[in-house]
Amino acid sequence: VRILVVCSLLLVAAAGCLDPTGTELADPVPTGEADPAATYPFGGMTEFCLDNETCDFWDLQFHEGAVYEMDSLVLDAVVMPVPGADPAAATMTARMATAAWQNVTLLAQPWFAESFRLNTYAVGIDVPSADAVSDPEIVVVSEAGQRSTSIGLNAEQLACSVVGGSQALAPAVPGSLATKVYPVHEHDGMAIVAAECVTGGFRCAALNFAGALGGSNSLYDLVAHEVGHCLGASHVGDALDFNARYVPVADIMAYADNPSRVSCPSSLNARVLEGIYAHLAEQPVPDWLEGGGYYAMDPWEYVQVECPLPPQGPL
Ligand SMILES: [Zn+2]
Repeated sequence: VRILVVCSLLLVAAAGCLDPTGTELADPVPTGEADPAATYPFGGMTEFCLDNETCDFWDLQFHEGAVYEMDSLVLDAVVMPVPGADPAAATMTARMATAAWQNVTLLAQPWFAESFRLNTYAVGIDVPSADAVSDPEIVVVSEAGQRSTSIGLNAEQLACSVVGGSQALAPAVPGSLATKVYPVHEHDGMAIVAAECVTGGFRCAALNFAGALGGSNSLYDLVAHEVGHCLGASHVGDALDFNARYVPVADIMAYADNPSRVSCPSSLNARVLEGIYAHLAEQPVPDWLEGGGYYAMDPWEYVQVECPLPPQGPL
């Protein structure tokens, strides 16, 4: 708990620096062939699951689902400093990876583009709003090499007391901090904990215990993947939750790793987020989500927005 309280003090101490900024908006760029008649698989996809007996999807489409029920279209994300040889560059990288999700609106329907707002604040770079300090929806916590943040804390405490204040001092009685706690999602040096907190509603903590290991592009993709989960999006068929025959391997929610580039939000991500947030904008909730299933997209409709590269070099 002590570590988390220190984090909260850092947040307050960071007030008085700069205004929050989003990332530069860029035009969407196609990543694959735009030809429905093209032979499968074509650019930007791979045949992942090869046996229709074990694949959850044996069709020719891309799939992505939802992991959380969200309660606001306006979210504050707080990025804690990232340890490493160059903490400033590493923290900037994590900040860019988080803020890039605002650009998913470039591929979204007007109602979503107009109402979805992800405010990103990096401690030491930005001045968080009072609301972000007291009740961030998303907190990105990075550590180097070990998972000390989680020692002695359960998912409910990690999600609901991560920004300290009086909540950090609350008794650790199960159910006292949250009305609902989601299963912990953990892989590849990260853990995502999320809960409906008694104070503040939905809260998601992205714990990165690989720190800046692997360089800026790897850190960027790791944090962007984590934040994608915190926004409610699942994987795309090559991970723990479900297996699909065809997978957009360059998607930020894919497991595939390519350190020569960074992955930016996609049209697939946009459709999924539209579904997840529909009920908050009085839009009809799509059938796939209502039924607890997955959104399916034709591969030639798949594009990613462009997003700026993080500072290159050792972190
Ligand atoms: Zn994941």
